[in-house]
Amino acid sequence: MSQKVSVTGIPSSAYIHIPFCRRRCFYCDFPVSVVGDRLRGETSGTIGQYIEVLCQEIAMSPVFGQSLETIFFGGGTPSLLSTAQLQRILQALEERFGIASGAEISMEVDPGTFDLAHITGYLSAGVNRVSLGVQAFQEELLKTAGRSHSLVDIFAAIELIRQVEVPEFSLDLISGLPHQSIDQWQDSLAQAVAAAPTHISIYDLTIEPGTAFGRYYKPGDNPLPTDETTVKMYQMGQQVLTGAGYQHYEISNYAQPGHQCRHNRVYWENRPYYGFGMGAASYLQGKRFTRPRKTKEYSQWVQAGAVIDCEVTPADEILLETLMLGLRLAEGVSLAVLSAQFGEAKVEEIHQCLQPYFEKGWVEVVGGRLRLSDPQGFLFSNVVLAKLFAELGA
Ligand code: SF4
Repeated sequence: MSQKVSVTGIPSSAYIHIPFCRRRCFYCDFPVSVVGDRLRGETSGTIGQYIEVLCQEIAMSPVFGQSLETIFFGGGTPSLLSTAQLQRILQALEERFGIASGAEISMEVDPGTFDLAHITGYLSAGVNRVSLGVQAFQEELLKTAGRSHSLVDIFAAIELIRQVEVPEFSLDLISGLPHQSIDQWQDSLAQAVAAAPTHISIYDLTIEPGTAFGRYYKPGDNPLPTDETTVKMYQMGQQVLTGAGYQHYEISNYAQPGHQCRHNRVYWENRPYYGFGMGAASYLQGKRFTRPRKTKEYSQWVQAGAVIDCEVTPADEILLETLMLGLRLAEGVSLAVLSAQFGEAKVEEIHQCLQPYFEKGWVEVVGGRLRLSDPQGFLFSNVVLAKLFAELGA
């Protein structure tokens, strides 16, 4: 594509990676270091040292002039931070960018890693949204997945979140775990609904190379559920959660009306954002950059000036990213915006490329927006995106 595509937009969101976990789950390939609980709260320990480097990175970041509207502490296990450590990072963000009043400040928390004092402290520091990594409501599946917590820890965590009345409460589940039955999945969905979070995320397990599961299992093989079963699980999730009043607003995400995740919408709308910390990605001035995934290399990169050393994303890739991310949203992507950004001819090309899927009912245009149908289009999103990548890719 020769046309120059605008990738402007002033970032007002920041992702902060906290790369520490009590143990590594068997399916996880995120950039994390395993630390013991004893390191928690130490200023000179592993976590304390990391935070100093992270705050240095924040202090050196380019600033584009808009205060932060969303901040997301992801991991890893951000709930291994003490309140003072969390405050230290928020203070660094405030000093560098400013934090807008009413900003959404999210934090991923894991059962068994926080108590009443922690969660009260996080809220008083400014956190107003927590995302609880439950994954399954069966003790045996928690063990199978290598989670560090028990079922008792899950119920205690839910109780604490209720007790302190966290304004936004999201709960994560995983479908497609080894040995997971349809009945267990149904039970997990029912228990999730009973916990009454404002938001529920459901991830279908992917077997990643380099993980324990990658060594134990082959996708589609026993004891992993068959494709047919994972499709049933997806459909069941959609039926149970929409039946309970949650809107299926993104391929893997459900929210009570008015409770969508503002931060994650920035990604799906392909808008710019800051990223800080080991392995964190940022998208600034059209440059998508991922920081080193190992502590030592990350620290060296910060000491060397935290230089974002990469090319601006080419127009063809921006188009594919916009489609890949935007079609995850139930509302899809605006054809008028696509046309203004990439040209009418490109939009026509997209239509032609997707023609077979219009006929199958997997894609549709509603209110001037191109979107995947729910649940069929979402279920076959990989097929649709593969076709787009094959035909529109550079
Ligand atoms: S808690 Fe999350 S980040 Fe940590 S090992 Fe498990 S899946 Fe990975």
